[in-house]
Amino acid sequence: MKKIPSGIRGEIRLGSRCKNINMSEHTSSTLSKYELVCGMEVHAELKTKSKMFCGCKNDPFRASQPNIYTCPVCLGMPGGLPVANKKAIEWTIKLGLALGCKINLFSHFDRKNYFYPDLPKGYQISQYDQPFCIDGVVETDLGPVRIHRIHLEEDTAKLQHKTVDGQKVSLIDFNRSSVPLVEIVTEADIHSAEHAKAYTKKLRQIIRFLDIADCDMEQGGMRLEANTSLRHPGETNLPQYKVEVKNINSFRFLEKAINFEIKRQSEILDAGEVPAQETRGWSDDKGQTFTQRAKEDAEEYRYFPDPDLPPIRFEQKQIDEIKDSLPELPDKIIKRWFADFDVETKNSDLLIESQDDAKWFEELFVEAKKAGVQPNALANAVVNKKLIIAEPRQIAQTIKTFQQANQTDTVDEAELQKIIAEVIAANPDAVAQFKNGKTNVIGFFMGQVMRKSGKKLDVKQLNASILKTLSSGQ
Ligand SMILES: [Zn+2]
Repeated sequence: MKKIPSGIRGEIRLGSRCKNINMSEHTSSTLSKYELVCGMEVHAELKTKSKMFCGCKNDPFRASQPNIYTCPVCLGMPGGLPVANKKAIEWTIKLGLALGCKINLFSHFDRKNYFYPDLPKGYQISQYDQPFCIDGVVETDLGPVRIHRIHLEEDTAKLQHKTVDGQKVSLIDFNRSSVPLVEIVTEADIHSAEHAKAYTKKLRQIIRFLDIADCDMEQGGMRLEANTSLRHPGETNLPQYKVEVKNINSFRFLEKAINFEIKRQSEILDAGEVPAQETRGWSDDKGQTFTQRAKEDAEEYRYFPDPDLPPIRFEQKQIDEIKDSLPELPDKIIKRWFADFDVETKNSDLLIESQDDAKWFEELFVEAKKAGVQPNALANAVVNKKLIIAEPRQIAQTIKTFQQANQTDTVDEAELQKIIAEVIAANPDAVAQFKNGKTNVIGFFMGQVMRKSGKKLDVKQLNASILKTLSSGQ
């Protein structure tokens, strides 16, 4: 058999394509001496009805018991024949097209051979040299991140380490075995922990919007890996080593793990040494990464095409049809909402969770504008949970609720001044605090004035009036 070099991962970072990018833009402040070079690998479980290579139900997180969605194929029994899930392949291509990838018209599944108890076949069905999608890009506020490849594979079973009758045991739940899993691999375009977070958040937004995966990170429906190394600013070659931090299940941990690695690797480089090439895990309890496996490159997965699965050939027409079925994507909607309704990006970003949401909010903004309500004020209220949208969602009702909540009572200016003066006179301690620079005491005064007046006053106006009175030394 032809010997294939040490797995896809070893190769990803070695492409010559990475050489001409501006690497200095996103250097974080902790990094004056070194620059982070980071690529991400993200796994997401697709939410097809059935598993990747058999007809078993794909619902591992809601299963009432372990090992209820299994058959000879996903249990890895000898003689079990896999059949590829058409929907999962279509969705992978859909994702690729949404990220601007080229689609390989010829593709196939390969066996990635390794032994682990959660993989009884002794190999995982994955894709090696002909992934479905290559060469895309995800735009973020901190700069673009190029997609190297997107491939489809099967998830493994899940190990549970428990104590049963006083004995430590490892149990295996096959409900997750052979659930379709897409892996999205980037180029090493990421140069700060914040950038890594922005990228993965954007990616999750797009995947969820396409309605192909839930990306529940707590459950493990979306898992993050960061390939990290450091180099001196201005250098363009990829560093000689690479540290892979695996199994990160939240954006916060991703940021922490990368910042920890920057510090750890800096110290090793400062000492004149090169960090070991290895795979590390993240321990949130300790707030640090730890060695899991050394010498990743020495691993030999012996990839070869799976003889049980025929190769896949697409016609361009089929790809075009999938492309035509793509919805307007979040980035485009966010830009349009800003142009049409003045809705700020930070608000839109949180409102676009699904296509249904996007459609509904769009209608809401159109009607709000007609009713003289600023769409951004509405969006802001929803994002800050000041306006709870009742189910079933009704546009007119929502606008009315918002208007009522924001209606302020008018009050005679002289009367207001009188109340403010009274409140100030009754609270000399608070006045002293204000004069000592504790300006947030203004909130206390506002509450007192509101209560005394028995009215809902315009907050901005009230704030200004109190501030004026306090500052004038009364
Ligand atoms: Zn099965």
